[in-house]
Amino acid sequence: MLQTDVLVIGAGAAGLMCAATAGYRGKSVVVVDMGKKPGRKILISGGGRCNFTNENSFPENYLCQNPHFIKSALSRYSAQDFIELVDRHGVEYHHKTLGQLFCDVSAQDIVDVLMTECDWAGVSVKLRNEVLSVQRNNQGYVVSTTDETYQCTSIVVASGGLTMPKLGASPIGYKIAEQFGLNVLPTIAALVPFTLHDHDKQRFDGLSGISIPTEVSSDCGTLFKENILFTHRGLSGPAVLQISSFWRAGQAVTINLLPEHSIAELISQWRDQSPKKSLKNMLTTVLPKSFVEAMVNHKDITDNTINQLSNTDVLNLSEYIHQWQIKPNGTEGYRTAEVTLGGVDTDELSSKTFEAKQAQNLYFIGEVIDVTGWLGGYNFQACWAQGVACGGAV
Ligand SMILES: Cc1cc2nc3c(=O)[nH]c(=O)nc-3n(C[C@H](O)[C@H](O)[C@H](O)COP(=O)(O)OP(=O)(O)OC[C@H]3O[C@@H](n4cnc5c(N)ncnc54)[C@H](O)[C@@H]3O)c2cc1C
Repeated sequence: MLQTDVLVIGAGAAGLMCAATAGYRGKSVVVVDMGKKPGRKILISGGGRCNFTNENSFPENYLCQNPHFIKSALSRYSAQDFIELVDRHGVEYHHKTLGQLFCDVSAQDIVDVLMTECDWAGVSVKLRNEVLSVQRNNQGYVVSTTDETYQCTSIVVASGGLTMPKLGASPIGYKIAEQFGLNVLPTIAALVPFTLHDHDKQRFDGLSGISIPTEVSSDCGTLFKENILFTHRGLSGPAVLQISSFWRAGQAVTINLLPEHSIAELISQWRDQSPKKSLKNMLTTVLPKSFVEAMVNHKDITDNTINQLSNTDVLNLSEYIHQWQIKPNGTEGYRTAEVTLGGVDTDELSSKTFEAKQAQNLYFIGEVIDVTGWLGGYNFQACWAQGVACGGAV
């Protein structure tokens, strides 16, 4: 049986960050992962450029049953701390919108930073090594994998959530939590495209690839000002991914299709400037033509000329454009979701160290726990912060 102080399950963002931090403290650390490569989700993230942090990562950007839980870790390891790390490694990156930072070249740069840090910290990373079981004994824990059996003092479960099963997602983290008596909250796919009912699919047929800057909100009241994207399966785009984390089956989402304008004011201008033009033509000056045509064809929008519009028409149109309601059929689920909502209940964990309150030397970090960030680099920032907090304590 191989001995190590710390065994980390999962060579993802949270696990590697934790391993390097613990290694620098002089702990012997082994990371095991069933994948062929470390950081597989990092590699595909941000379209291959990894949106590795968000400069404005605050607790309010996270969903968690306990909104205070993430405060401590985020305040102790900020986006600026991670930026300093990538700067030290000479990674080139750029700012996009809304505080998002992306690699200039490739997400591989971020994996290289983490693997170099692990190397310098003396961490051993064992790939193609699936954890099969965990047992407690007098000296700590025994972890059996497909290749080895490890005796360790502490275990860090950083095995991720259920998204992207083809990239090695597994429920092992939830099973270990339950085995040691920890509560696991129901999980659900989040940051995920919506699928549509047949009648909406027909309405939007041919719109695939059309993107519209919008403001999207759901019953929870949270509002995102980003683009929606029509796809051949339904609705996607950053605004839809964001709201999907708040949406529950049966609810409608409300989309303001013209957040920068008031349609009533536009119509009053058009009345002066182009009274004989059709509403359809005028709308195509502010909305994509194919979208307007589809809405007119389905009689959602009248085809009258501007001077024919009654006050009631304007009111109806205003409601339609500024409070467009869509009732999704569902989501694309874990197959394409970016994150898993729910997971190990944070009430079971210390917010300082991420150790289980009722199982000494057993730690949970990353997507496996009930902390889910918005789209935009928040999820990686949570992984870095949790990895550092846990690695400093383990
Ligand atoms: C397509 C996509 C794009 C994304 N883009 C971004 C982005 O740009 N910015 C951002 O902040 N977030 C992004 N995310 C979310 C982000 O990738 C996750 O929040 C983050 O990777 C979670 O890290 P983790 O370390 O907790 O888990 P993971 O990265 O999932 O790592 C868990 C590891 O555990 C291993 N494992 C599981 N079970 C076992 C077992 N039984 N034995 C051994 N090993 C096991 C897995 O192989 C895996 O490597 C994206 C997600 C997806 C799917």
